[in-house]
Amino acid sequence: MSEANRSAVRELSHFIDGRRVAGTSGQFADVFDPAQGRLSARVPVANGDEVAAAVAAAKAAFPAWSETAPLKRARLMFKFKELLEKHSDEIAELITRDHGKLFEDSKGEVVRGIEIVEFACGIPDLLKTDFTDQISAGMDAWNLRQPLGVAAGVTPFNFPVVVPCWMFVMAAATGNTFILKPSERTPSASIRLAELFIEAGFPKGVFNVVHGSKAVVDALMAHPDVMAISAVASTPVAEYIYTESARHGKRVQALGSAKNHLVVTPDANLDQTIDALINSSYGSAGERCMATSVAVAVGNIGDELVERLVPRVRSLRIGSGMEPDLDMGPLISATHRNKVVGYIEAGVAAGARLLVDGRGHSVAGHEEGFFLGGSLFDDVKPEMSIYREEIFGPVLSVVRVPDLASAIALVNAHELGNCVSLYTSDGNAARMFSRQIKVGMVGINVPSPVPSAWHSFGGWKRSMFGDHHAYGEEAVRFYTHYKSVMQRWPDNIGKAA
Ligand code: NAD
Repeated sequence: MSEANRSAVRELSHFIDGRRVAGTSGQFADVFDPAQGRLSARVPVANGDEVAAAVAAAKAAFPAWSETAPLKRARLMFKFKELLEKHSDEIAELITRDHGKLFEDSKGEVVRGIEIVEFACGIPDLLKTDFTDQISAGMDAWNLRQPLGVAAGVTPFNFPVVVPCWMFVMAAATGNTFILKPSERTPSASIRLAELFIEAGFPKGVFNVVHGSKAVVDALMAHPDVMAISAVASTPVAEYIYTESARHGKRVQALGSAKNHLVVTPDANLDQTIDALINSSYGSAGERCMATSVAVAVGNIGDELVERLVPRVRSLRIGSGMEPDLDMGPLISATHRNKVVGYIEAGVAAGARLLVDGRGHSVAGHEEGFFLGGSLFDDVKPEMSIYREEIFGPVLSVVRVPDLASAIALVNAHELGNCVSLYTSDGNAARMFSRQIKVGMVGINVPSPVPSAWHSFGGWKRSMFGDHHAYGEEAVRFYTHYKSVMQRWPDNIGKAA
């Protein structure tokens, strides 16, 4: 595309100290409409001065904000919730236009973001701590949870509203100020969130947004006034952010990639299992960190499972996310689609049986869109790259194992451990499975078991680096310093005074 055409598209802005700020670096990243395969916006890439301005705004807002009573913060959260509800369709459309996922999915994402805000409305209660009266003669002891200062967040392309809400909502509720570095591929919604935050009455500087990629993240991690970093990214990036932030002495949590298994025992309800697999493997074109990527068929269930999956995968309804009655939209970019196609080729070359081939799928009227059909592999082996690596696309692999113990061993041997599901009719097997499995989030007859806002979210092994999971009470812990106070007032002190 020519420079003239490039500069004709929508230009996004940063959000610093309570207002939109145009980029001054002269550098931009391209944002595409994945359904059309066309450039839709340019997002400015922040330079060092812009990152410094955002940190300075957040630092300046911190003293007053951290002293604001939790009840007052909660009242602003109630107002923010109302605004998110009022503008839900508008925000969902921003998500779909940048990301490609179905409008209904985007609306669901906004609802999930609102649930985090609803949880944060209870912050006065969440910040209550323990008190021991008379821990010793004339002495009491209690704990405080105090905010850290300026925190920053780095978010992935696939959930441009809810993942930022895990971070800035919980950081602000606990008295911190925040800088979000959203994905440069889906940046539009973050600016609208920041505007609504101000409209709700939050002071300027409490929530700032700067765009860019590695260089901006590096600048935030190295900045002496940034106290904590939350990141959600692919595992190599999450590990880098974890290591680098720790090296700079920051508190850090970094959630990474996923390779989620759904284990099916021979006594499972197969109708429910097939529905679960179709929704969780192909919904949002497989670009969810909670997507199922491997179906583990235990015992003799494999043949029937595959037989029933094939027609369902072939009949997936695929199109532009803004159209109704579809199962999935396009992938995020042409590059990512090529990467997923590369995995399908690698699976075929390694000897897996490709039962449904989604390559070359085209959608009428959207011929340039980044579409791919659903793909289904059988006879996938643990050493194959399609099994080992995260594909992040609409590709489901079936692995067959003789018994449940082998299924558990298979899942536990994988280096990633975000979520897992078991479909079974056996309660004792389910109990044993949920206790023995080395994965952070477990669903029993539940696909993609995303914890609710008042629980916490996070994987094990190389799906997460750091000690605290995201949102829920874990976020209250992550975003606060724990302080223990012991106090005695001998009666002679008052007399001396
Ligand atoms: P990504 O790793 O390419 O980018 C994520 C973020 O990191 C973006 O903001 C990006 O600008 C930034 N980034 C990229 N390279 C960087 C670098 N070298 N140094 C510092 N920052 C860098 O991921 P993505 O493609 O946007 O998102 C998909 C990935 O995120 C998948 O791997 C998915 O599993 C993962 N994800 C995980 C969760 C979870 O909760 N575990 C949730 C959503 C997505």
